[in-house]
Amino acid sequence: MDTKTHSDLQEQLTAYIVGKKLRKTEERYTILQQISEYPGHFDIISLHEKLESLNFHVSKATLYNNLNLFIEAGLIVRHFITPQNVQYELRSLAETHQHLICTYCGDVKEIRNQALKTNACNLKLRRFTPEFSSLYIYGTCSRCTYRMNRDRRKREKQETQKKIK
Ligand SMILES: [Zn+2]
Ligand SMILES: [Zn+2]
Repeated sequence: MDTKTHSDLQEQLTAYIVGKKLRKTEERYTILQQISEYPGHFDIISLHEKLESLNFHVSKATLYNNLNLFIEAGLIVRHFITPQNVQYELRSLAETHQHLICTYCGDVKEIRNQALKTNACNLKLRRFTPEFSSLYIYGTCSRCTYRMNRDRRKREKQETQKKIK
């Protein structure tokens, strides 16, 4: 799916709000506007700071409620990277890639693998209606591999020195 333009997002939000008989507040559209400008992942703290810097004051609780509403409306997705690291992303963007997550430092990288995407979309699932898919591959990033190898070599060196003495 192509990346949605901002007006598409606005229309989608309006349709959801009207369908649910919620209030069409300016606040929701301002928050959505700022979200649509992120080129990738964001967290609630950076979004809050971004809004503050624009002199748009909204509490984190209100922001959280709006993020939940956007998730329900299918506009954004929530990524539970680690229990301490929760990120958000436009759903139209999240559908374009898979995530590589380092289990040591929590670093997130994105890859685009068409075969993985196609396979996930073609699954026949019983008693389940898929809406979108997002794949997480957990492992060790190159920086952590380097660090661990270096530490191991250091330990081995210390042990051989101890033996020599
Ligand atoms: Zn992503
Ligand atoms: Zn790492």
